[in-house]
Amino acid sequence: MDQPAEAPASGGPEQQTLFDWADSEAPQAAPAKTADGAFRDSPQARRMLDVREVYAEPAALDSPRGQQIMSRLPGVQVTEVDGHWLIPALHGNDGNISRWARIKTDTLVLGVKQSLTTRPNGRSADWIAPGASNGCAMACAYCYVPRRKGFANPITLFTNIEAIVAHVRRHVRAQGPKTEPNQCDPEAWVYDIGENGDCSVDALVCDNTADLVDAFRTLPTAKASFATKFVNPDLLALDPRGRTRVRFSVMPADDARLLDIRTSPVPERIAAAADFLDAGYEVHFNLSPVVLRPGWERDWTDLLVHLDDVLPARVKEQAAAEIIMLTHNRSLHEVNLGWHPRAEDLLWQPDIQETKRSQNGALNVRYALETKQRALARLRELLARHAPWLRIRYAF
Ligand code: SF4
Repeated sequence: MDQPAEAPASGGPEQQTLFDWADSEAPQAAPAKTADGAFRDSPQARRMLDVREVYAEPAALDSPRGQQIMSRLPGVQVTEVDGHWLIPALHGNDGNISRWARIKTDTLVLGVKQSLTTRPNGRSADWIAPGASNGCAMACAYCYVPRRKGFANPITLFTNIEAIVAHVRRHVRAQGPKTEPNQCDPEAWVYDIGENGDCSVDALVCDNTADLVDAFRTLPTAKASFATKFVNPDLLALDPRGRTRVRFSVMPADDARLLDIRTSPVPERIAAAADFLDAGYEVHFNLSPVVLRPGWERDWTDLLVHLDDVLPARVKEQAAAEIIMLTHNRSLHEVNLGWHPRAEDLLWQPDIQETKRSQNGALNVRYALETKQRALARLRELLARHAPWLRIRYAF
């Protein structure tokens, strides 16, 4: 099927094989490019993002980036909005839950990011840079991005990219050189540039990702970093010269089929690692989220064996990984029941999870401490046995 079914009778959509590959098989073909070389103009890219409707702040439409984006979307209906955040017809309409994946495919929001702040992190990155987007065209059932977005979570692109880049440059310069190595990186300050979206998919419709990769190429004391579940061959042309780290997220195929909706199949992400390394990226992996269920150890073993079998030595030599155990959220659980209830059989397991109220008042759910610690210890054992070359940067 071209798009995931909306509220199917079977209980939920399964992972779409965007490139017509069976996701449990080895990749058979690379994502196609069009005659002029741009993947983003290909039919495969349009299966991910086929924008039919834009909600936009007037200032975003008037900006150079906004005009560039709209020039690539001729004839698309535009609705002007006062602000990009919590648009009533979009985020406030509970009727949109049954169109969750469809809205991600055909709707785009353009806004101006008002607050440009860089936050310390210390786990995945040293710093979280102000993101150039918020929301995603993919639809992972556990994704934390929609937790405060209500009933829809399409991509919002921020068009004031010059201000975002200028802010990041200033922040990098203010740090000076990194003098103490840490697990984020031994030498460079690492800035996560994609906290609330997926930079690879954003690059299908705008140059924000390219501008950030360009900026970090000229910042010798810093490195950009983003996690992705989408293989966008257009990123291979960006010439990052080692200053951008791509973190391909991986999980067992059975989990991905149920949870990683609309993403590139996991074998394709793994198969892309060498191409990205050869194009000048640093390539790491996110083992995430780790979902506990009967058989999880067997299936993670299979995944680690697969990584060991197919990755060339040059990828292994520079690779590192983050392990992130599943966290979930009560409000998102209720939204998910409306469009993909079968995912909740895996994600919502009150017997082994505990609830914690976060600083913003949301009720987040995570594995009980002892359960989580046991699982992490087991996963570390599996890694030591099957992929000893994969250094764990941190486990969370
Ligand atoms: S790819 Fe990332 S941002 Fe997009 S839906 Fe999945 S978890 Fe969320």
